[in-house]
Amino acid sequence: MVDRPKLGVLALQGAFREHAEALRRLGADVIEVRLPVELIELDGLVIPGGESTTILRLARLYGLDDAIRSFSRPIFGTCAGMIVLDRAHLGLADLEVERNAYGRQLASFEAALELEGESDPFPGVFIRAPRISMVGQDVEVLAELDGAPVLLRDGRILVAAFHPELTDDGRVHERFLRLVADAVGNRHASTVPATRGSNGV
Ligand code: GLN
Repeated sequence: MVDRPKLGVLALQGAFREHAEALRRLGADVIEVRLPVELIELDGLVIPGGESTTILRLARLYGLDDAIRSFSRPIFGTCAGMIVLDRAHLGLADLEVERNAYGRQLASFEAALELEGESDPFPGVFIRAPRISMVGQDVEVLAELDGAPVLLRDGRILVAAFHPELTDDGRVHERFLRLVADAVGNRHASTVPATRGSNGV
């Protein structure tokens, strides 16, 4: 049983330090990822907000685009990180995104979001946010703003159009940690021989 997940935050550009701090506050071991080899043995990866064109350009330069495509564990993309994961880019999240759809630099705002399954609103910080224009049928919408999805889950992939790392509210990162814990649990379960007890001991 792994109790402290080992997570990576893609540290090419953008708000990676804030994500690392948010995850550490929740008890994860976090490393900054700048090379493909650093993905080995991670239980999950965060792709932060920033500038998606820059993140993608640097990722290609270091061979991280292919390495992330082959990474089979949970991934959490926020804002630019969500763009990196969409159909038009790495193709790991089944959704289409319109960049800067809420406007340019001035179009930064905060909105109280209703998270699926929770009564307290979440402070959503939006900074030149992308707008999701199309989602695949297996994608689960976990929060919406003005009728557009802003927090979604596609299997092991979690994406947010906003910046949960810029608030003190850890609930969205907690959701990612639950995805990671489930994936780690399944991995252990699948390596337990069928003749053993169902609790794996
Ligand atoms: N506008 C940025 C982009 O298109 C995303 C903004 C953000 O990550 N805050 O990459």
